[in-house]
Amino acid sequence: MKKLKFDDAKLRAAQLRNLLNQYSYEYYVLDQPSIDDAVYDSLNNELKEIEEKYPEIITPDSPTQRVGGKALRKFEKIQHISPMLSLSDVFNIEEIRDWEKRIIKLSGIANLDFFCELKIDGLSTMLTYDNGIFIQGATRGDGVIGENVTQNLKTIPSIPLRLRGKQVGRLDVRGEVFMSKKTFEKVNLEQEKKGLQTYANPRNLSAGSVRQLDPSVTASRSLDTYIYEIYTDLGLRTHEKKHIVLAELGFKTSRFVKRCKNIDEVIDYCNYWENKRNDLDFQVDGLVINVNDNAIYDKLGFVGKAPRGSVAYKFSAEQVTTTVEEIRVNVGRTGAITPFAVMKPVKVAGSTVSRATLHNEDEIKRKDIRIGDTVVLQKAGDIIPEVVRSLPELRTGKEKIFKMPTKCPICGNLIIRPDGEAVARCSNSRCYAVEKEQLIHFASKDAFDIDGLGEKIIEQLLNEGIVSDAADFFALTEGDLIPLERFADKSAQNLVVAIQSKRKVSFSRFLYGLGIRHVGAVTASLLAEYFHDLDELKKASEEELSNVEGIGTVVAKSIYDWFKENRNLKLLSKLQSLGVCYEKIKIRNGLRGKTFVVTGSLKTMSREEAEEKIRLLRGKASGSVSKSTDYLVVGENPGSKLTKAEKLGIKIISEEEMLKML
Ligand code: NAD
Repeated sequence: MKKLKFDDAKLRAAQLRNLLNQYSYEYYVLDQPSIDDAVYDSLNNELKEIEEKYPEIITPDSPTQRVGGKALRKFEKIQHISPMLSLSDVFNIEEIRDWEKRIIKLSGIANLDFFCELKIDGLSTMLTYDNGIFIQGATRGDGVIGENVTQNLKTIPSIPLRLRGKQVGRLDVRGEVFMSKKTFEKVNLEQEKKGLQTYANPRNLSAGSVRQLDPSVTASRSLDTYIYEIYTDLGLRTHEKKHIVLAELGFKTSRFVKRCKNIDEVIDYCNYWENKRNDLDFQVDGLVINVNDNAIYDKLGFVGKAPRGSVAYKFSAEQVTTTVEEIRVNVGRTGAITPFAVMKPVKVAGSTVSRATLHNEDEIKRKDIRIGDTVVLQKAGDIIPEVVRSLPELRTGKEKIFKMPTKCPICGNLIIRPDGEAVARCSNSRCYAVEKEQLIHFASKDAFDIDGLGEKIIEQLLNEGIVSDAADFFALTEGDLIPLERFADKSAQNLVVAIQSKRKVSFSRFLYGLGIRHVGAVTASLLAEYFHDLDELKKASEEELSNVEGIGTVVAKSIYDWFKENRNLKLLSKLQSLGVCYEKIKIRNGLRGKTFVVTGSLKTMSREEAEEKIRLLRGKASGSVSKSTDYLVVGENPGSKLTKAEKLGIKIISEEEMLKML
């Protein structure tokens, strides 16, 4: 994350806290979330990152400082025997490896083994047994105080009312109450028929079902359980063993578990379920990875409200939050001007996305999306990324409302939006064709030579509004490409790699790629050899340009004009900001700092011409010999300068030698 300045961080954190607390209330207390869990996680994660950088701004009411929700007043409150904690989240493989490194360091044990289980999206519950009899069931509540929902839990068939075998003393176990996707749909359908509010997800419906005042409602909801933790010390050495004992006691434990010998096996298991999760008939939002050895687990202790020995690996979300950095427009085949959002790159549904089409001006207004806004971005599977909505609660006042440009950014002609139409168009019918040709030229063999970036793909990128100039190629991510026709994961990755490998090309290719009128590959080479870099070329006058061998006045004017156009300068600075550059070649400027004097008449050029050439190669041409003269060029019938130079011991060269140096 880009480091925010302290004041900005403080403000952003306060806004995030307010919003997250509101969402938590809707989710935990009302069982009526107004946003997707992944959106909540995305914002919560942002808050955590800010608080990690500036721990001094953490407030006690921060959602990062507490577990879950609140006990509802309608139920008796119960203090848990030991706190029902939350889990720290990890969102990708790198974070899993970082977690492993941390716990290896803390425990001092290098070869840890792990126990992984599916993270069921349900309601966390604590079940208490006395001498083998179920005496109490509670929700997690705020982790310390929960709600007594014993009567309701008794209606769930997989919760044993009496444990198997002879049991003595108290036993506390923890597990998840959940519901199948099918039951969820069925209940929602019934709710709809009765004109009642439907539930956002199976987790909220499970929670709502357990927290019913009438146990018969709970009973009707076909709830199920998986129990995964024993709080009572039974002397069990591993988490795996706890699962075995739980099953022996008569609890329902998950079949979807695996002991992994090392972190690579854990990662394989995570990847496996990442792809298979939709095959399950209940909802999961990730995997829980536990250090298997209970003694090490306990030794690792806690950080905040979560144990260090476990993490929740969250599956890649289909909705995330990010910020809109810019809204730009591109010109489509029919001249249609399509605005698109350039966003802070973010991982959604497994790939990184940085841009999304916003369709048209009305759509932007309807969704009230502003430049600088935090937005919810959605991408389900291979579907094109979509900006779902903005989060106005997180505005700072610096956001800008998008205004459709009046002139086409490509050709400068007027943009018109006929009455009654949603789409604005460039009034120049050739505009798209010119733009397309330029992009094809940029990627072509003699220019940037980008493998796999041919006409068809460029057309597609333009039509989808993903690129509007050559610099945009370098901002493309796999996630921008995968949704497009002709692209699969591999081909998208190949193209991104091919583009990125051309971040640095020779100066002549770079110049040729810019598509300056009259500048072919040969002229580009001449320019590249002559000028040090773009800055010098930019500064060159028409006259200086036409002094370059092989460049006439027409070409010189064309180059000069090109560097005066705003749009071209913008392209150059955009390329530069995306790290696109050229190899600086050693140009023939060996004359830099050397002083020449020419005497006598030369065979191939006049003395003035020779002096000009010397100057163009950054040498100094002087009219008289002195101690600071480096070379005396001697033609036919030299004058007294020769004698003087000989006296001063100055190097004397012939016209041929001078030509070689030039
Ligand atoms: P969590 O869901 O990230 O992880 C802890 C929970 O995982 C445990 O309490 C337990 O119930 C569950 N779990 C399932 N299987 C498990 C297993 N095998 N082993 C251990 N635990 C297992 O943390 P949380 O504090 O319970 O809640 C955060 C969740 O609530 C997030 O998913 C968040 O998106 C969601 N939330 C959503 C909103 C919203 O508005 N949509 C608001 C607040 C919270």
